[in-house]
Amino acid sequence: MIIQFKTPMNHVIVDDILEQMKKGHHHGVMSDNHLIIYDLDHFDFTDREASVIEHIEATQPRYALSSRKFQPEDTIIETAHNKIGGDNFTVMAGPCSVENEEMIHRLAAEVKAAGATVIRGGAFKPRTSPYDFQGLGVEGLRYLREAADENDLDVITEVMSVEEVETISEYTDIFQIGARNMQNFDLLKAVGKTDKPVALKRGLAATIDEWLNAAEYIISEGNSKVMLVERGIRSFDSTYTRNILDVGAIAVVKKSSHFPIIVDSSHAAGHADLVAPMAYAGVAAGAQGLLIEVHDHPSQALSDAAQQLTPAQFTKLVAQAKKIHALTENHD
Ligand code: PEP
Ligand code: MN
Repeated sequence: MIIQFKTPMNHVIVDDILEQMKKGHHHGVMSDNHLIIYDLDHFDFTDREASVIEHIEATQPRYALSSRKFQPEDTIIETAHNKIGGDNFTVMAGPCSVENEEMIHRLAAEVKAAGATVIRGGAFKPRTSPYDFQGLGVEGLRYLREAADENDLDVITEVMSVEEVETISEYTDIFQIGARNMQNFDLLKAVGKTDKPVALKRGLAATIDEWLNAAEYIISEGNSKVMLVERGIRSFDSTYTRNILDVGAIAVVKKSSHFPIIVDSSHAAGHADLVAPMAYAGVAAGAQGLLIEVHDHPSQALSDAAQQLTPAQFTKLVAQAKKIHALTENHD
């Protein structure tokens, strides 16, 4: 329930209302002259209380702060080299994992030349098997940061645990929360306490509501720089695609939330030849950016070898995706 108070606010009566909500253990937040109560859609106000209320929005999703009802206009996240969201189209790309110093420097220059403004690369990797390459850790973060600075790019990299948040924030511009951690609520709260942008990937089997409620964990801690990344969900058929890219979810998120929505077709496709068509579908559905894995020798990659694009393939993808994005502008 969102209560909009008349302005100028009658603080005596408004404070009484706040006190009552507190006594009833209702959770909410005051923002300007709006009181958002997360766990209520109805309340009986006395005539005295009703006299200070302009409007009550009864039905509102549980993800109140992330919802367009709370903020109708798009969130635009500003970083050193980007404005993410709104009519902007942001291309983030790089290898699945930072494998060594030379490769990340080469790839930073290549993805930049193709139109990317953010470099990705995992240094702390969530791998299915403990025997798989786990990433270079802090050393990888250092290479990533240096490669980004040399090419005027922002950095996005995954944070897997609360303990890593502080260290990773020294190197990155954007925290990535991976699909496997989408409901790691302690981690969501921890990045929510920082002022760094957070790219929240959709969980492997998460509903849209669960995903948006995960975003709500971040914004309810005070960090409103959230972007949502659709990267495909598990379904019954992984014969040809690794995951099902939920194109409908991109349109739903864009309608329901003010946060930027980004498409990661690399992890959805799982196969290099399907990454571009799936990216185009995501952009046509309204995605405001791309997150794409690029490697200069994909078959030798230490993680996600099958789905990484060569710089040449990536260059073509970006050119086409930008054209599709231009067609979607002002067509909401
Ligand atoms: C990744 O970006 O390399 C990654 C592990 O992604 P996801 O969390 O979507 O599987
Ligand atoms: Mn990967």
